[in-house]
Amino acid sequence: MRTRQAKYIFVTGGVMSSLGKGLASASIGALLEARGLHVTFLKLDPYLNVDPGTMNPFQHGEVYVTEDGAETDLDLGHYERFTTSRMGKVNNVTAGRIYDAVLARERHGDYLGGTVQVIPHITDAIQERIHKAVAASEEGPGVDVILVETGGTVGDIESLPFLEAIRQLRASVGREHTCFVHVAPVLYLAAAGELKTKPVQHSVKELQAVGLAPDIILCRTDRYLDKAIKAKIGLFCNVDDDAVITAKDVETIYEVPLVFHQEGLDEKIAQVLNMWTGRPDLRQWESVVQVLRDPKREFTVTMVGKYVDLTESYKSLNEALVHAGIPIGAKVSIEYIDSEKLEDLSLLRDCEGILVPHGFGSRGTEGKIRAVQYARENGVPFLGICFGMQMAVAEFARNVAGCPGANSTEIDPNTPHPVISLLPGQEQVEDKGATMRLGSYPCRLRAGSRAHDAYGTTEIAERHRHRYEFNNTYRERLEAAGMVFSGNSPDGSLVEIVELPDHPFFVASQFHPEFKSKPFDAHPLFRAFIEAVAKRQADGD
Ligand code: GLN
Repeated sequence: MRTRQAKYIFVTGGVMSSLGKGLASASIGALLEARGLHVTFLKLDPYLNVDPGTMNPFQHGEVYVTEDGAETDLDLGHYERFTTSRMGKVNNVTAGRIYDAVLARERHGDYLGGTVQVIPHITDAIQERIHKAVAASEEGPGVDVILVETGGTVGDIESLPFLEAIRQLRASVGREHTCFVHVAPVLYLAAAGELKTKPVQHSVKELQAVGLAPDIILCRTDRYLDKAIKAKIGLFCNVDDDAVITAKDVETIYEVPLVFHQEGLDEKIAQVLNMWTGRPDLRQWESVVQVLRDPKREFTVTMVGKYVDLTESYKSLNEALVHAGIPIGAKVSIEYIDSEKLEDLSLLRDCEGILVPHGFGSRGTEGKIRAVQYARENGVPFLGICFGMQMAVAEFARNVAGCPGANSTEIDPNTPHPVISLLPGQEQVEDKGATMRLGSYPCRLRAGSRAHDAYGTTEIAERHRHRYEFNNTYRERLEAAGMVFSGNSPDGSLVEIVELPDHPFFVASQFHPEFKSKPFDAHPLFRAFIEAVAKRQADGD
């Protein structure tokens, strides 16, 4: 039984999307943790897809995979990176999943012939999910605060049931246990030389129209708001002046908790929620920001992928690379190359390290294979992730192990050398949603391998999201040609990591290590990769 009352922080956004609500929520979580509180999160997404797993990365950005194998919104990545909370299936829900559950109950006859309606059935189901997210964390350390972030923009038709559910929940748990944070832009109009507060006021009006009122307003802006502007916003939006917080654009996202703290946000939240906590210890955040602002060295990794026009698709990878530089005082930047356009390998001539990321479908795969070949032949540090590993295997099979035309059957079903293929029995799977190998699986590392060296242990577990696997019929042939299968499932049946020992750094994993990297705890494989990039530069290669 819980011994303490959970507190609820609701986060909404007004006027437009891309205000960084996810980062704001994650940063609030970080500040509360730094004050000694246990936090968890729930992301409510108003769209009708059952989960983001089947959504186009160009539209939706990265699909973030949790330990328990949920395909979730990329904001859950921010939550896990910024805090010690562990996200899972219960921490992200879409309107599609809510409707799916309610309609299943209706078909089952659970409503006993009653009329099924948005209010109360959908809104009740939303509230149940919020309670479920709190209850799930009771199995762990328990939770002091749950941050519930609603996707989309206040005023959208889709958000209405979520806002109504929040309004009801707020009344039922008691207002004193809830804090409502609204994020909205304050725009600087250069022509008038003025900051405009009207959009904020209008979005607060939208909230008031559905019976909600913010306790705190986070103003997204490119400059600090002075007292007079804050007082104006406070007056028109009916909040205290010290509840108007400047959420200024920052150079690195890891600065956000520090900026919020300076603005008094965590203090104000503690006051609204009536919680007594100590002052936050933010030294970790300060030292990360210090490195990123004033790095001793800088490196650039070349990422050869397909979704380069929307780098949000590689969110966790991008962050994992940044984290990997921090322990050596380095700033890591990323240069993106569209694999489809990678005909001319001179584009890679000055590159310091090559990363081939995850991907689906055949477009641009030959460019990825050329990039792998370039890295292998020129001693450029190489890291392959998921599809990147599959392409590394295809390249090695073709160009070293004497298997011309080797490929994954996903790309070429008639390849003479199907080095990557479906496992027997998988061919029958027709549904696209949630049918991949998803979530955390154990992996055993070969003693003395580069992977073992990086992790410092032989037993690891990492998160997966793929359908195709290494085809074991090629194991001996590739091994004889010099490829080392340094990570395998504990029963030895699935290849999880491949590497080339006679190369400065050539490692590729079937899993996604990036999902577990944190700013204060860089992932071992990314660290080893960046160390190899640094070494090559120091050696003047
Ligand atoms: N398309 C490949 C598969 O399904 C790789 C997936 C990925 O890179 N995440 O196996």
